[in-house]
Amino acid sequence: MRKNDISCPECGAGFRRLELHSARGERGEYHCACGHVLEVFDGSKVVVYRFDSPTFDSSVKRLMLATTMKFFEPRRFADPDLAARKLTENANGIEAIQDGRIYIERVNDPFLAAGGSGNEFRAGIARAIAQGWPWRHESGTYVKFTDSGAALFA
Ligand SMILES: [Zn+2]
Repeated sequence: MRKNDISCPECGAGFRRLELHSARGERGEYHCACGHVLEVFDGSKVVVYRFDSPTFDSSVKRLMLATTMKFFEPRRFADPDLAARKLTENANGIEAIQDGRIYIERVNDPFLAAGGSGNEFRAGIARAIAQGWPWRHESGTYVKFTDSGAALFA
């Protein structure tokens, strides 16, 4: 675990930052109450920010904390239905090769880049397949679009 103190270059608010390498975190951003992005998380570790400014009294601290908490990006694809739609949309934009094959990592990569997690991807692809949008080859390495999947974005 690593600890250090961070102050916002925009407004000067102080934060205590904790970094845990033993666990994988979530992708996202941490914003100061003033809106300045203090850090973009890539998900490779857990990072925790705590508002910690001795120059503010406790009521201001509570307000700042409440404001910064609000800026935590909610999990965009926690709902498998949303994830399924996003994945199908991604797959729809990918040019298929070899009689309609779309390799799974080409669907996965943009999903992760858009803020999805691995678990959300698995839940989303399962839901999309259950809806009959893509069809997955038994090897699990590629999907093919069905007519109903293509019709979603026609
Ligand atoms: Zn700030």
